Amino acid sequence: MALVSFYHVTTFFDAVRNYMVVDGGALGDFIIWMPIITLFFFLTLGTKRGLYYSIVIFLATFVMGIMYLPVLSSESIDSLGQYYFANLVYIIVLYYAQHVFKTYADLEMFKKHAYYDSLTRIANRLRIDEWLQKKLKAFEDKREVFSIIFFDIDHFKSVNDNYGHKIGDEVLVELAQLIQLRLTNRELFGRWGGEEFIIITSKEGDETVKLAEKLRKIVADHHFKGAGNLTASFGVTYSKPGDSIDSLLNRADKGLYQCKNVGRNQVSYIK
Ligand code: GH3
Ligand code: MG
Ligand code: MG
Repeated sequence: MALVSFYHVTTFFDAVRNYMVVDGGALGDFIIWMPIITLFFFLTLGTKRGLYYSIVIFLATFVMGIMYLPVLSSESIDSLGQYYFANLVYIIVLYYAQHVFKTYADLEMFKKHAYYDSLTRIANRLRIDEWLQKKLKAFEDKREVFSIIFFDIDHFKSVNDNYGHKIGDEVLVELAQLIQLRLTNRELFGRWGGEEFIIITSKEGDETVKLAEKLRKIVADHHFKGAGNLTASFGVTYSKPGDSIDSLLNRADKGLYQCKNVGRNQVSYIK
């Protein structure tokens, strides 16, 4: 950085001396170099420090120009003025461009945080709510049927009680990964809350039951690190005319509790 700045300032000094003081002309090729070096400052130092540094370097070249002013021709003074103006405009444009870019990147990051569950890194309830609203609208407008699988880990409280909350958390992460791996990108998957998860799929009811049955078996056959074998119960239902998020989830929940009542580790389909 120091080397480049030194080179920039001495080249400017040379350019003023050779092209202007000796020839009485304009700044010449040097003009092309300025945007590159200013961009370099911004990219390597970041928005704020890039701005301060560019201004310091600008002031150094400005003071130099002022010192030579008495011996310059009017053409040279014009050229120098244009150079300073262009340099300032360039600094302002770069500052704002980088500022806007950073704000946009921050916004994307906030959006990501707002939509994802911080523990399992899958979609959270807010995101699922949005998905369901969209799906219900598409169902109402275009009769695009969709189904949901609502599932809940069996006796999860005893995982926490027996192995501690940390292991409980790890089970949730492991389960989310386990399920995610078995889904295609046409299925939407998220954590509804606690140890409850949701899958939204455009599959018809019977096909969804098959998928739920496959996932139930995968969970039951899996050995969770630190907690061993666990099972989950699954409630399945599909969109019906007049459905709201609540009515849809209530049916899935009903399916889930049917499983819990008859021994868990099952899939219940509510039509
Ligand atoms: P059931 O088979 O009827 O579903 O029993 P359960 O023990 O799984 O259900 P219950 O609703 O009684 O308990 C859920 C437990 O999940 C209680 C709560 O402490 C735990 N839990 C909820 N969220 C988290 C979490 O983020 N981390 C951990 N470690 N535990 C959680
Ligand atoms: Mg449970
Ligand atoms: Mg529960």
